[in-house]
Amino acid sequence: MKRIKIKELLSTEDFDREVLVKGWVRTRRGNKNISFIALNDGSVIHNIQVVVDLAVFDESILKLITTGSCIAVSGTLVKSMGQGQTSEIQAKEITLYGTADAETYPLQKKGHTLEFLREIAHLRPRTNTFGAVLRIRHALAFAIHKYFNNKGFVYLHTPIITGSDCEGAGEMFRVSTLDPVHPPLNEDGKINYSEDFFGKETNLTVSGQLEGELGAMALSEIYTFGPTFRAENSNTPRHLAEFWMIEPEMAFYEIIDNMDLAEDFLKYLVTYALENCKEDLEFLNNMYDKELLKNLNFVVSNKFERKTYSEAIDILEKSGQKFEFPVKWGADLQSEHERYLVEKHFKKPVILRDYPKEIKAFYMKQNPDGKTVAAMDILFPRIGEIVGGSQREENFDKLKKRIEELNLPQKDLWWYLDTRRFGTAPHSGFGLGFERLVLFVTGMSNIRDVIPFPRTPKNAEF
Ligand code: ATP
Ligand code: MN
Repeated sequence: MKRIKIKELLSTEDFDREVLVKGWVRTRRGNKNISFIALNDGSVIHNIQVVVDLAVFDESILKLITTGSCIAVSGTLVKSMGQGQTSEIQAKEITLYGTADAETYPLQKKGHTLEFLREIAHLRPRTNTFGAVLRIRHALAFAIHKYFNNKGFVYLHTPIITGSDCEGAGEMFRVSTLDPVHPPLNEDGKINYSEDFFGKETNLTVSGQLEGELGAMALSEIYTFGPTFRAENSNTPRHLAEFWMIEPEMAFYEIIDNMDLAEDFLKYLVTYALENCKEDLEFLNNMYDKELLKNLNFVVSNKFERKTYSEAIDILEKSGQKFEFPVKWGADLQSEHERYLVEKHFKKPVILRDYPKEIKAFYMKQNPDGKTVAAMDILFPRIGEIVGGSQREENFDKLKKRIEELNLPQKDLWWYLDTRRFGTAPHSGFGLGFERLVLFVTGMSNIRDVIPFPRTPKNAEF
């Protein structure tokens, strides 16, 4: 007999037939005559109930079917008389694949804290919460490809190991095969990277954008979706050392087109989750955040507020609010400022543009005022910055001058500058932090709980 997934069994009305299910036991309860097993295979948040008649089954086998054990059950699918379920299985045959010792199985009891579950990241996918989060994460990843495919964007695979250390987005992890104790040295005592694997210094990428631009200058519209790495010691609920980023890059888009695309994209993704992850979202709504569904619907149905950075500074200065970090034109907005604007002032997602050039990367298009660049950040409730993007400087001379002003190693960027030498074009793009999106959609409060195996300072166990 072919195995059927529990999701399918729970949605069918085709009763009184023989079925085979396989999964992990969530609970087993009952009395001397009958035993009820709640079985889950990860295909859906709900369990299927397996009814075991003890007159037919040997008690000694049943004793081994404890929480966490893995079994296969064949039996008759019947309409359930019990509350809260449509169907159940009357067991005819049970195969025990793997026991889970009740004394030592960490998920024996319910109601563990999320902090504890982080310490058993190898087992936490078996909880309702992580099952729901991981299915939603999957659905969003699928929707991202679907969205761009529908629009004719090309999925461009940019490198994970990069030879440039000026991607402009934070500290990097070094990639090297040199002997860490006795590396080859130059006469000046510095490490001789010409003997390293790639013959030069290499790092893990912090962003695929620069290579993404090369793609856009040929294919018009591309996107990347891959892992990025930042060796910044920021122990916050919104930062990971390894996270996934989606970076579309579009030729012939100016800053407003860029904002329009980002807003439409975010709304599409949230709508996709609302339509395709209903049961998981309802579960998370009930367990963690009673406003979750309301907030998601709100984001989909309201136009994002659009303001300039300078207007935002004005609002913050006049707010009368006490902030930990002072508000000053020229300083980067902190998460507390972003959240004030979104949650207290506008009460909806905000797109800010035209940031001071000093706090933004070298490649952003310089505005005529000489002080600001055509950057745009999207700020979300509970998250703060979810998207960071800009129109790129397409003018060779201006870009070169900015690189010189900032003392960036120009010779490493020769290939990037070539796009401005040969057939340059106005173009724009942005980066969406995938985990920040999942954080928003699931209503979880810590980014460590929306990626299967989080990488944070001092933590890479699993
Ligand atoms: P922040 O100010 O929040 O650190 P950033 O300015 O460093 O963000 P960008 O370099 O613009 O962010 O990266 C693009 C997007 O990637 C951000 O809008 C955010 O969604 C996400 N992101 C950035 N850093 C991290 C991180 N350490 N962990 C998870 N997501 C991140
Ligand atoms: Mn950062």
